[in-house]
Amino acid sequence: SLTAEPQAETVFRSTLPDIAIPDHLPLHDYVFERLADRRDRACLIDGATGETLTFGDVDRLSRRVAAGLRASLGVRPGGTVMLLLPNSVEFALAFLACSRLGAATTTANPLHTPPEIAKQAAASGATVVVTEPAFVAKVRGLSGVAVVATGEGAEGCVSFSDLAAVDGSALPEAAIDVANDVVALPYSSGTTGLPKGVMLSHRGLVTSVAQVVDGDNPNLHLREDDVVLCVLPMFHVYALHSILLCGMRAGAALVIMKRFDTVRMFELVERHGITIVPLVLPIAVEIAKTDAIDRHDLSSVRMVISGAAPMGKELQDILRAKLPRAVLGQGYGMTEAGPVLSMCMAFAKEPSPVKSGACGTVVRNAELKIIDPETGLSLHRNQPGEICIRGEQIMKGYLNNPEATAKTIDAEGWLHTGDIGYVDDDDEIFIVDRLKELIKYKGFQVAPAELEAMLIAHPGIADAAVVPIKDDSCGEIPVAFVVRSDGSEITEDEIKQYVAKQVVFYKRLHKIFFVETIPKAPSGKILRKDLRAKLAAC
Ligand code: ATP
Ligand code: MG
Repeated sequence: SLTAEPQAETVFRSTLPDIAIPDHLPLHDYVFERLADRRDRACLIDGATGETLTFGDVDRLSRRVAAGLRASLGVRPGGTVMLLLPNSVEFALAFLACSRLGAATTTANPLHTPPEIAKQAAASGATVVVTEPAFVAKVRGLSGVAVVATGEGAEGCVSFSDLAAVDGSALPEAAIDVANDVVALPYSSGTTGLPKGVMLSHRGLVTSVAQVVDGDNPNLHLREDDVVLCVLPMFHVYALHSILLCGMRAGAALVIMKRFDTVRMFELVERHGITIVPLVLPIAVEIAKTDAIDRHDLSSVRMVISGAAPMGKELQDILRAKLPRAVLGQGYGMTEAGPVLSMCMAFAKEPSPVKSGACGTVVRNAELKIIDPETGLSLHRNQPGEICIRGEQIMKGYLNNPEATAKTIDAEGWLHTGDIGYVDDDDEIFIVDRLKELIKYKGFQVAPAELEAMLIAHPGIADAAVVPIKDDSCGEIPVAFVVRSDGSEITEDEIKQYVAKQVVFYKRLHKIFFVETIPKAPSGKILRKDLRAKLAAC
C-alpha cells in the first residue's frame, strides 16, 4: 500500500507584519488605554440632539453604571445583562459597564418579538434587561429578570439615570480571566437558520480590535480626528466591534444615529464633518440610487467601509463615482470569527491598491486557508473553496451548544466559515457566496450574489434577490425577485435578456417575480429562507 506524504497546507497571512497584542487587558481597559491623552476629546455624539460625551465622560459614566448595576441589581462577574436597545449612548455605557463588572452583555434587536427575546434571555441566563420605555412591554413577562429603562417614566423599572447616579469611584476592580471570561454574547444574523449565540472573550475581542486598528501601520487607519458614523445597529457585532470598539480604541468620535434615513444621514455627515462611513449593502444601494446625494456636500467622507454581505464590483464602481473623494472598500466578518476575518488594505495607514469586489486581505496575527469542502484539503491561490480562519480572535464557542461548536471549530483550531471564496495573486480575498446558498444547476454552481450584483447595477432595478427553484431536469434553476426602481417599467423578458447577455447559459434566470421589497435582516442580509418559503407557498 502507498503511504501518502502528509500534505503541506497553503496558509495565507496578512501582508502586514504581526504586532504585539495585549493579552492581559480586559476589553474596557484596552479601549480606554490612552484615556489620559484624550479625556476632553469627543467620544459619543447623539446624532438627534448633538449632545456630546467626551472620553472622560464615557469613562466616568460607565463606572457609575457599573456601580449601579452591581449595587442595585446584583450584577457580578460571570453574570449576563441583556441590551434591548436601539443605537444610543446608553448602549455604549451599559456595554462598557458590564465589561468592568466581568459580566457578559448579550445584545438583541429591539424589534424582536417577546418570545424571541424571552428565548435569548433564558439561553444567556440574563438577570437584567436594559431597554427603552417603548420596549418595556416586551420584557414585562420575563421572570427573574430586572428591567432597566432609559428615558423617563417607565413604570416598575429601574431608571438608567438612577444607575448612572451611583458613585463609581469605589467600584471594586473585578477579577477577570481575559482568556476565558465572556464579555459579549452577540447573536448571528439568522440568515441561514435560527440565530446562534456566540461567546466572545475579552481576549478574543481585544485581539480582533487590535488586528484591525493597532500597530504602526494599522489595517484600518482610524485617527483621533476622525468622526465615524454609527447608523448600523450596535446590537449586531459589526457595529459593536468595528464602530464602537475600534472607534473608541483609536480615539475617534462616533455620531450615533438611531434609525437609518438617507437624507438625515447626509445632513449628519455635513453637520459633524463625518469622515468614516461604515455601511451595509442596502444602505450602499440606497446611496448609489438616490439623487439626494447631489444636493449635499459629503466631501468630508474619506472612507466608506462595506461589510456583512457581498458587494459586487458593479455597485462598488457606482458608489466610487458618487463619492470620488472617499476610499471605498470592504471588510469581511462573521460573528463566530470574532468577528473580522479580512479588511481592505486601501484603509491602511500606508495603503496598498485593491480591486473592486474584493473583501480585503486576512487580518494580521491570523491564518487563513481555503479548503476543498469535499476533501478538506487546502487549496492554492485563485481556487475557490471554503474559507477557514485561525487565531486568538475567534469565538470561544456557541452558547450552550458544544456539538455545534465542535462542528465549526476543528481539532486544529480552524473555524470553518461556510463561505466560499478564493485568495488571488495579490492576497486579496473574493467571496463567491455561502456554501449553502450556491444553486446547483446540473453539475454547475451558480452564486446568487453574482447575479444580484448584476441586477442591482441596472438603473431600472432598485433591489433584487436570487434563489433556486427545484427543477426536474436540472436539479435547481435560478429565479429572481426584483423590486423595480421608481418609474421603471422594466419587464421580465428585458431582465432575462440583460442577464443572459452577460452570463454563461447555466446562470440565466428562468423566472422573475416582481415584488415591493426584499426581506432583509437588520445586518443587511437578504433573508433567502423567507423567499424560499414564499416560493414554496405559491
Ligand atoms: P446565520 O449564521 O445566523 O445564518 P449570518 O451568517 O448572516 O447568519 P453573521 O455572523 O452576521 O450572520 O454574518 C456572517 C456572514 O456574512 C459571513 O459568513 C458571510 O457569509 C457574510 N459576509 C460578511 N461580510 C461579507 C462580505 N464583505 N462579503 C460577502 N459576504 C460577507
Ligand atoms: Mg453564519
